[in-house]
Amino acid sequence: MEQTKLYQKISSRLGELEKFSPMKEDMSIAQLMDDKGISRRDFMKWAAGMTAMLSLPASFTPLMAQAAELTDRLPVVWLHMAECTGCSESLLRTDAPGIDSLIFDYISLEYHETLMAAAGWQAEHNLSNAIEKYKGKYILMVEGGIPTKNDGMYLKIGPQAHTGLSIAQEAAESAAAIFAIGTCSSFGGVQAAYPNPTGAKGLSKVTDKPVINVPGCPPSERNIVGNVLHYILFGTLPALDAYSRPKWAYGLRIHDLCERRGHFDAGEFVQEFGDEGAKKGYCLYKVGCKGPYTFNNCSREKFNQGTSWPVQAGHGCIGCSEPDFWDAMGPFEEPLGNRLYHTLYGEGADKTADKVGVALLSATAVGVAAHAAIAAVKGAPKTDES
Ligand code: SF4
Ligand code: SF4
Repeated sequence: MEQTKLYQKISSRLGELEKFSPMKEDMSIAQLMDDKGISRRDFMKWAAGMTAMLSLPASFTPLMAQAAELTDRLPVVWLHMAECTGCSESLLRTDAPGIDSLIFDYISLEYHETLMAAAGWQAEHNLSNAIEKYKGKYILMVEGGIPTKNDGMYLKIGPQAHTGLSIAQEAAESAAAIFAIGTCSSFGGVQAAYPNPTGAKGLSKVTDKPVINVPGCPPSERNIVGNVLHYILFGTLPALDAYSRPKWAYGLRIHDLCERRGHFDAGEFVQEFGDEGAKKGYCLYKVGCKGPYTFNNCSREKFNQGTSWPVQAGHGCIGCSEPDFWDAMGPFEEPLGNRLYHTLYGEGADKTADKVGVALLSATAVGVAAHAAIAAVKGAPKTDES
């Protein structure tokens, strides 16, 4: 019953959206897919995957397909702050764009500094025009951390040298929905790493408006497009975790659905890159994987049209979707426990966990480190056959 009501509610919302004139009159999703050789069947398969990712019943797949077809009804303003532009680049530079990338192309980007032809005064004019014309209706996506020290003077943009801080605040004021794209915009990113000389912060720290964080370095295109589709379907904020990340994408740890998890549980670890354990696909915790502390869906959704992800390729997760990961998760190729407990016991946690005693090891970080240590102490299968 609830399901039927929700279906009808979404259906009527999409019906309303459909009445808006398309912002890309010369293009439709069907045509775009056709041009790229993507069949309707593949498109519907993609819509079914997206429906499952947003934790909706499979019967909502036609609504998801319809929402994707309506992504050109909502204007998007995309701002760049202090960052490497990697989040945009990862979406734009793929040589074999999947359906997620094509949808991103189809979204009506009214302002995007990397993509637009305009520069200088014209670009500045385009931005204020878009904000004025679509007041209260546009989706704001911000990439990059916001320098705040000395009134934001460490980031000035355009011929009038407005600060990134003032531009982001003004754009946020009139937006219908706001997404902080990437870890820099969500939490400050590398700019905010110690000693953070520019006072860089995440977007949510400089505006009173609700901000949905979509962290990752870069975030997957699926998570970006999924958020837009969620907004089109519901018009409301998704359920968020303590760091304002949508739970449908960031509700589980990398570790929870990792394909190497069986090896972690069996105490089978890669001891160093290139050893026998690495060849056998053993768990990467001891060579620095931060999957047990990182909330994201990489192990389920993967990258590059779902073909692979860092752990599958043989390197541990570096925790890029967590706040302050540059400071908190390093060194990237050592277990977190080693760094955290080095000063406490004079040795890494992997070596000291057995001395401390399992009863004391209740915190997750310590517990995971202890598991790795105990596996070694008990003579769990060695990774180096020599
Ligand atoms: S520690 Fe890393 S490699 Fe090992 S199971 Fe967890 S996420 Fe996978
Ligand atoms: S596997 Fe970890 S480091 Fe890699 S993208 Fe996902 S969250 Fe970031």
